[in-house]
Amino acid sequence: LTERLQNAMTKLRRKPTVSEADLRETMREIRLALLEADVNFKVVKDFVKQVQTRAIGADVLKGLNPAQQIVKIVNEELTTTMGTEAVPLNKSEKIPTIIMMAGLQGAGKTTTAGKLALKLKNEENARPMFIAADVYRPAAIDQLEQVAKSIDVPVFQLGTDVDPVEIVRQGLEQAQEQHNDYVIIDTAGRLQIDEKLMDELVNISNLAKPDEILLVVDAMTGQNAVETADGFNDKLELTGVILTKLDGDTRGGAALSIRAVTGKPIKFVGQGEKMTDLDVFHPDRMASRILGMGDMLTLIEKAQQDYDEDQAQKTMEKMRENSFDFNDFLDQMEQVQKMGPLEDVMKMIPGMANNPAMKNVNVNPKDMDHIKAIVYSMTPAERENPDVLNPSRRRRLAGGAGRPIVEVNRMIKQFGEMKKMMKQVSSGNMNGMEQMMGG
Ligand code: GDP
Ligand code: MG
Repeated sequence: LTERLQNAMTKLRRKPTVSEADLRETMREIRLALLEADVNFKVVKDFVKQVQTRAIGADVLKGLNPAQQIVKIVNEELTTTMGTEAVPLNKSEKIPTIIMMAGLQGAGKTTTAGKLALKLKNEENARPMFIAADVYRPAAIDQLEQVAKSIDVPVFQLGTDVDPVEIVRQGLEQAQEQHNDYVIIDTAGRLQIDEKLMDELVNISNLAKPDEILLVVDAMTGQNAVETADGFNDKLELTGVILTKLDGDTRGGAALSIRAVTGKPIKFVGQGEKMTDLDVFHPDRMASRILGMGDMLTLIEKAQQDYDEDQAQKTMEKMRENSFDFNDFLDQMEQVQKMGPLEDVMKMIPGMANNPAMKNVNVNPKDMDHIKAIVYSMTPAERENPDVLNPSRRRRLAGGAGRPIVEVNRMIKQFGEMKKMMKQVSSGNMNGMEQMMGG
């Protein structure tokens, strides 16, 4: 999903203007990307329609930065499709809060039960207890015992010869006595949904009246994950979904479809086999991940908020006239500093966050302050015409700013190079800097 969608978005972002044909082409790419990623076709249809309607309604093609606006709309619609906001666990007024895990065999119920218990222990100092209600394979109870032992959580079990509903009844009694604040019921799965399984789960649910019935689905099964979710949702009062194995080579379509098809929120995602690999599901972050944008949108928003349009216009004019001086330079620095620490700003650029080169980037806010101090030490004439900065003036600056002379020299040299680059960019074509800044 990600790659194809990313390509479409990158192509779009490179365009200074976007025509109606471009928009149609982009919509087509998005449609294909979603279908290829096993997103349910009805979800795709609604999604594309929604994006298109908004793009046309907002007249994005006529406005500023149409490509960015479309990317933003796509991102927002992805977020909406996945439920907009993270949904926390339901909690019971009096203990214990009862959580029932449901799902097909191998989906990750037992593993996820463990992850969830650990999360509750770590975050709330909770005292959870498991009930072993998967009685069809002796190995299932052993597995739960092992998981439980690794995170130091007790298991209630009566072996494999007792009816699961009875096990749950007795387990809940014990939890009451022992004042456990959470009970997590690990249930059996099948390879496919069948009536016997559903009946059993419904019976357990009728008895336990869980605060949460969490359906665990394997994200790698694509369309099947969605069908499974739909099937379980018909029979059980699901309260949420946990999507597992998102660390694997999944096409991610399940995340997009499940909420739309079942109406039930994805509450957590499993991203690995370790007990700590469970994360709260944030629709907006997932959307950004699908689009491969890092926090591109945060960056765009920050830039829109903080970057004064007039100022930008003036700067560009100066650059064209090659009259950019140290006064402009100061203004620029202040604009950039308003956006936050420079390395944070850079990390928001797609591909930068994970770029190994970023590890060495460490823009010390102090460096920026030092540069400013040097500029402040200049006379107005020097700021306007840096060419007059001869060695004796430079020594004076070093003294005034309290910085070594080599630093002053380096700074002035860098300024000269920057100015040269600006001239090249701005004289080449009018759009050069606009592209650099926004496109
Ligand atoms: P159950 O039959 O539904 O109880 O499924 P299990 O909890 O036994 O999990 C089946 C397999 O999936 C096990 O090998 C787990 O380690 C693995 N698994 C579960 N969740 C994840 C996950 O988020 N990522 C990865 N990579 N593997 C997982
Ligand atoms: Mg299991």
